[in-house]
Amino acid sequence: MRLGVISIQGNVSEHIDAFRKVFDGEVMRVQNRGDARCCDGLVIPGGESTTIGKALEMKGMRDEIKKLGEDGTPMMGTCAGLILLSKEVYGGERSDLLGLLGVTIERNAYGRQRESFEAEICADSIGKAPFNAVFIRAPLIRGVDNGVKVLAEYDGRPVAVREKNILGLSFHPELSEDLRFQKLFLEMVESS
Ligand code: GLN
Repeated sequence: MRLGVISIQGNVSEHIDAFRKVFDGEVMRVQNRGDARCCDGLVIPGGESTTIGKALEMKGMRDEIKKLGEDGTPMMGTCAGLILLSKEVYGGERSDLLGLLGVTIERNAYGRQRESFEAEICADSIGKAPFNAVFIRAPLIRGVDNGVKVLAEYDGRPVAVREKNILGLSFHPELSEDLRFQKLFLEMVESS
């Protein structure tokens, strides 16, 4: 099996390192059109969603990734990656969204860089022990469509959601020692 990490900007090597600890298949950088087609699962990292989105469009990768997601390739988006997977960003027209996850997002709603924080969250799908989640200029999930499963909440709002083959996290699992969200995603890839 082969996992691809969209490698345009953001926390690319952190994701690659984290997956290599729990995955014995190949982890490749997805940088150009065509790369994503070689992957059994795709990770869209955190960073700056407008930068990543623009580059995906310019490189002709956006439509390809969207089609793969629609056809069932498992995808995990974290932070900026969650924004790109979403169908709608509150308060702004965006043409770069992949629209694969039925959620409405508000960018930077948890505050600016210096208001970054860590919080314990609970998610049954990774087991009972609390998970220490790192939030950095995190997007807020304001609304979810029917069919989107809320896996974890913080302060009464969803922070981990899943719709079929798409997993969206508003925090940065690649910055925690705890690799249970990577394992959850690998299970999705293995069973797809
Ligand atoms: N605020 C960023 C954005 O809107 C996301 C922050 C992150 O990925 N850490 O793209």
